[in-house]
Parts: sequence; structure tokens; C-alpha cells
Amino acid sequence: MEIKLLSISEKPGQVTEIPANPAPDVVESASTMGTVFEILIYGSDRRNLSAAARQALREIVNLDDQLSRWKSGTDIAYINAHAAKERVRVEPELFDLLLRSRRIWSETNGAFDITVAPLVKAWGFYEKKGRLPGSEETKSALEIVGMEHVVFDEEERTIFFERSGMEIDLGGIGKGYAVDRAVEILEACEVKAALVNSGTSSMYAIGSPPGQEWWHIGIRNPKDEEKSVATLALKDGSVSTSGAPEKVFEVAGKKYSHIIDPRSGRPAEGSVSATAIVGSAAESDALATAFYVLRVAGTRAYWEKHADVKAILIPATDEGKKPAVVAIGFDRNESTKRDK
Ligand code: AMP
Ligand code: MG
Repeated sequence: MEIKLLSISEKPGQVTEIPANPAPDVVESASTMGTVFEILIYGSDRRNLSAAARQALREIVNLDDQLSRWKSGTDIAYINAHAAKERVRVEPELFDLLLRSRRIWSETNGAFDITVAPLVKAWGFYEKKGRLPGSEETKSALEIVGMEHVVFDEEERTIFFERSGMEIDLGGIGKGYAVDRAVEILEACEVKAALVNSGTSSMYAIGSPPGQEWWHIGIRNPKDEEKSVATLALKDGSVSTSGAPEKVFEVAGKKYSHIIDPRSGRPAEGSVSATAIVGSAAESDALATAFYVLRVAGTRAYWEKHADVKAILIPATDEGKKPAVVAIGFDRNESTKRDK
């Protein structure tokens, strides 16, 4: 992966000049996983490139049939219904994804946890109707959340939930994982310059557009969608952002994020948006969710042990104040700029 931070906005809403990516030769998209995946490709053989893009998108649609916790008959629906009663054998690639989720859980001190489902449910986010659970309800949900209660048998490739009521939710990593799987297909089809994105949340850049050294990617300003807070130059790497403003719920005048801190059992507070940049989209997706929970100090602590990862955080500021932007892991190791 190659990455540069080209700019951080100095003034509210200022957009520095972004050398536009030229118009791609092939654009294909598909609606799945609750969003629209899009593939942009440069190259001369349009017919073959379009076929490659469509094959990659089909892979993502098929993955939704394995990973969704909503559809019946998916592997995840089966695991959620049975793994507290018996050990469930898991398809090898999904088993690897679950192991990877456990590793990220451990490396983020539990901030990223795919067993968060009972809490997401208690706060009403699955019904898209935010509600405040009572303290007893939060306590009982917390008892059935925690990757430490999932038993993995790596030889048999089975998983088991130690507590009944446990459920997993791949919402924080699945889209990024799907982007990676699409990238594998494109690379196998000899695609040399492409961008794969899952709406605005995760993307992967293969190579760079013709005549350009990099893909130029704007990190959107959550307070003003039309404007970016930072511009990145990226090649063969991935960017994911968590904290889309449209996902925030308001109950009795207070805002709650759909990202839960699995340690406290409450919606994470103190972040407006968190962006992670690293070599794989599954990893950047999961880390963006984790960094949203971990905030600046926790993300910096993570970066001290994983220097290949970079982050751009927008901490919450008081109403009416301009957002601050904190970049971690770039050239001078870290740079912070606050809009005046
Ligand atoms: P993202 O948009 O990638 O940050 O993922 C958010 C989604 O992941 C939520 O809608 C939940 O389904 C799930 N989720 C919420 N909190 C967490 C967490 N702390 N760890 C893992 N997944 C989470
Ligand atoms: Mg995520």
C-alpha cells in the first residue's frame, strides 16, 4: 500500500484543489448489503473489463447470502440460531473471517466485537427505531456479549456460543470483506487500475488511474456532505469510514450512534467520524468501527503497536463549533489541525 495525506482543510468547508480522477472506462454497480457497491475500472478492453466487474459484483451478492443476519438460510442466520446449542461447523472462508474478527477484537481491546448484536437490538438499531433500554436490560444484554464467550475449534472448524442468546453481526466488517473479495477477482482478471467501493463506507484502490500516480480520495465532512475534511492519495490500499451522520438516532434531544461500545453497553460517544487506512478493506472496515469507539487516545495507542495503519478522526465538538481533524500515522507521525 502507498498512501499520502494531501491536505487537511484549514478553514471551515474549504476544499483544497483535488486533481480529479479522470472518467473511468467501465462503471458497474449492484445494490446489496443495504448499500450500493460500485466498481470503476480503467483499461482499453471494455468488454472484458465489464465482465470482470460484473463477476466481482456477483461475488458480493453471493456473499450477502452467506453473511446476512437478516435473510433466512444464510450461514450467519444458522450460526445465530444453533451455536448456543451445539458446535456449528463453519465454511472455511467464513471461519477465517470469524477468526480474523476475533484477532481484531483482541487487538482493539474489545472495541470491535462481532458479538455486539444483543446490544444493537436493545438500543433499537435493528428496527431503525432508537430507544433507551433500562439499566437491567443493558446489563442482561452485556452478559451475552463478548468474543471471550465464543469457543473456536480450529481443527474441527466449529464455533460454539457459551451463553444462550448470543448472536453475531458482521455489519462492522462485512462490506469491507466483500470489497476485498471483489478485488481478488478483478486482480485475477488482470485489472490494473480500479476502485471498488461499498457506497461511502469502504473502498479499495487498485493501481492508479492512467497518467496519475495515485487515486485521490476525499474524506467527507460529516457536517457538510458536499465538502471534504481531508484528501488522501492512495494506491493498492483501502480506506473505510465509520460514523455516517444518517445513522445517528435522536432520542429526547440526545444523539446516539449505531456503533456501540461493547464494553460499556452504550452507543459510543465522543466521535463524529473515524477513518482507517490499511492494506485490506476488511481490516480498514473493522478498524474504522473500532477507532470510532476508541477515539483519539485509544486509536493512537493502537497505532503505536500497528504502525502500518493510519487514521483520520473527527472528535465530537460542542454544537456550533467547527470540527477538529486529527490525523494519526502520516509523515510526521501525527498531525493535528483545528479549523479556525
Ligand atoms: P460500521 O458502519 O462499519 O462502523 O459498522 C456499524 C455496524 O456494525 C452497526 O450497524 C452494527 O451492526 C455493528 N456494530 C455496532 N457496534 C459495533 C462494534 N463495537 N463492533 C463491531 N460491530 C459493531
Ligand atoms: Mg466498519
